[in-house]
Amino acid sequence: MRCHIARSLLPVSPVNPDSLAPLFAPLTSLRGIGPAVAALIARAAGGDRVIDLLFHLPESYLDRTARPTIRAANPGTVATLAVEVVRHERPATSRQPWRIIVRDDTGVAELVFFRFTRETQTPPGTKLLVSGKLDMFNNRLTMPHPDHLVPIEQAERIPAIEPVWPLTAGLWPRQVASGLAAALELVPEFPEWHDPALLKREKWPPFNEALRTVQCPTAGEPDRRMRARLAYDELLAGQVATALIRGRVRARAGQPLIGDSSLRDVALKRFGFPPTASQEKALREIDADLASPRRMLRLLQGDVGSGKTLVALLAMLRAVEAGKQAALMAPTEVLAKQHHRTLSALCPVPVALLTGSVKGKERARLLRGIKDGTIQMVCGTHALFQDAVEYRELAVAVIDEQHRFGVTQRLTLGAKGERTDVLIMTATPIPRTLLLTQWGEMDVSRLTEKPAGRLPIRTTLHSLGTMPTVLEGIARKLDEGAQVYWVCPLVAESEALDVAAATERFVDLKLRFGDRVGLAHGQQTAELRDAALAAFARGEIRLLVATTVVEVGVDVPEASIMVIEHAERFGLAQLHQLRGRVGRGADASFCLLLHEDWVNETARRRLTLLRDTDDGFMIADEDFRLRGGGDALGTRQAGLPGYKLADAVEHEPLLHMANRDAAVLLSRDPKLEMERGQAIRVLLRLFERTPAMRTLAAG
Ligand code: ADP
Ligand code: MG
Repeated sequence: MRCHIARSLLPVSPVNPDSLAPLFAPLTSLRGIGPAVAALIARAAGGDRVIDLLFHLPESYLDRTARPTIRAANPGTVATLAVEVVRHERPATSRQPWRIIVRDDTGVAELVFFRFTRETQTPPGTKLLVSGKLDMFNNRLTMPHPDHLVPIEQAERIPAIEPVWPLTAGLWPRQVASGLAAALELVPEFPEWHDPALLKREKWPPFNEALRTVQCPTAGEPDRRMRARLAYDELLAGQVATALIRGRVRARAGQPLIGDSSLRDVALKRFGFPPTASQEKALREIDADLASPRRMLRLLQGDVGSGKTLVALLAMLRAVEAGKQAALMAPTEVLAKQHHRTLSALCPVPVALLTGSVKGKERARLLRGIKDGTIQMVCGTHALFQDAVEYRELAVAVIDEQHRFGVTQRLTLGAKGERTDVLIMTATPIPRTLLLTQWGEMDVSRLTEKPAGRLPIRTTLHSLGTMPTVLEGIARKLDEGAQVYWVCPLVAESEALDVAAATERFVDLKLRFGDRVGLAHGQQTAELRDAALAAFARGEIRLLVATTVVEVGVDVPEASIMVIEHAERFGLAQLHQLRGRVGRGADASFCLLLHEDWVNETARRRLTLLRDTDDGFMIADEDFRLRGGGDALGTRQAGLPGYKLADAVEHEPLLHMANRDAAVLLSRDPKLEMERGQAIRVLLRLFERTPAMRTLAAG
């Protein structure tokens, strides 16, 4: 089934908000789509509304225009053959396929059916057009389950080009196609929201035409420009939306915070080390924000161990120097307590601790102190920003470890933070592209160096074939007293298999190195695992075979060697984190990346990059480029989170364009009132960025 839509069917009246409503209606509102098919489409498209189907783009296209003869046809390709039925070979048992032997002037081929359909009822002599993937079986050209099988006189029923949508079990391409045909009819004629000069330069068609061409191509595979146009629409909507939200947060006047450094000097003296150059730079950037009357919204990025806490403390002390309050929010109670200890040791004024488990009188006392301002510094969990907590004047809020995106709404800190300067600390080296899509133009400070005294980690690559040599090296190091992590990969499909592989490695290594070898993995009981980790920490175990459990929270400064088996199966960011487990002590450290002998070019480039740099930011940016976005977020899925039409890698340049475009647009028309602004409002609605529009109404 094709999606023919006459242009004249489309409404041409300017868009009013109601004309978008059908796009957000359930799939079942589409002609010919019942609840069962709707449910399947919803599963494939990730949403059960018409718009979800419209934005469910093909991952590739099948070109059915190739019409070779049987002799010239190539197994492994998709082709359309004009043939005549010779005879049927019925299966003797139900496990055998049904074969239709067909011929043309050049040879003989077989259509093979494992499931029998009425298509098998074609008498000998019938002339057919069949289209599908060709195969070679027993020296004969075969076409298992043709995608199309039509009488030759109905050739037009086979499309020249056919989109291949991501499907789900039970869903057929023709169901998607017919749903789309109905859905596309509902798309109104939109006003153009892009700058005409841009459209001309990029040779982009209108939105409707691009969408129709991508979803229902009629002549050949759609040009890349079609998809680029759609991606740009989506990216621009995202950039305008983040710019609007950020603008609102910013527009609330902050307060200029100036301090005399009296408290800072005391803290630094107690700390005993000079700040690193990165810390100094970050602090200068933060101080400039604090001193300005605009509100601060800054992300402080730095690897684990780069010294974010000191920067946070000094920023908070500026608030106290200015006679106001500062708060630090950690994601868990444990981390809140840890911060509380660190800050208390350095801070010249008392630091309060407020978490969910602080109750009764103590809690009442804290709330009173926060309200009357006698508590100037407070550390805690999200309890800090609950309704019952009233600050006298919260000037600086630090939020630690925000890996999660979409926190823009939290930046307001509820009603506490109208004027509060906000610093967000994260150890996730978020690639620039993701920063832009998720945060808009949030200011960023990066701690790019570790505090002095750390030795660099020497990273080397070894193919698994050279295992004997690697083991000799490890044996030598163990004899010299080194402690070794040996990490085996987890490959999501089956944890049990991965654990088996790790266990097998453990048995191997134990045979060779004896009782010095221990094992820790995710399927052990917590006691067993913790016992292994503790024995490693005490130095009783010298070589710890582990799955990625070591990634989190194991700190053994004496360990100086990290071996990672099948390094090619890990994300680069993850490898970098793992590598960070060594190099914490006084000894020179090594990271050995063992990889499959046959790794492909991309994998080799990724591992080489990791070998050659220790810069977590560069690694994240590059990995993003090489693999797409998901890995950087640890979700292992490609693409930009929250985006359906734009591809992280292919459309990255468009993202930067959209970012500038949004800035220029909003500087000229901050309330989106002019002609293009009005069209942009429709764009925001189409891409469901309407929360951002509330800021327009409010402001
Ligand atoms: P992060 O929070 O970025 O993971 P921390 O703030 O916990 O890192 O700092 C890691 C370690 O480095 C801590 O022990 C801290 O005292 C130390 N440190 C931080 N800054 C410096 C510095 N300028 N000189 C020496 N040590 C530092
Ligand atoms: Mg920290």
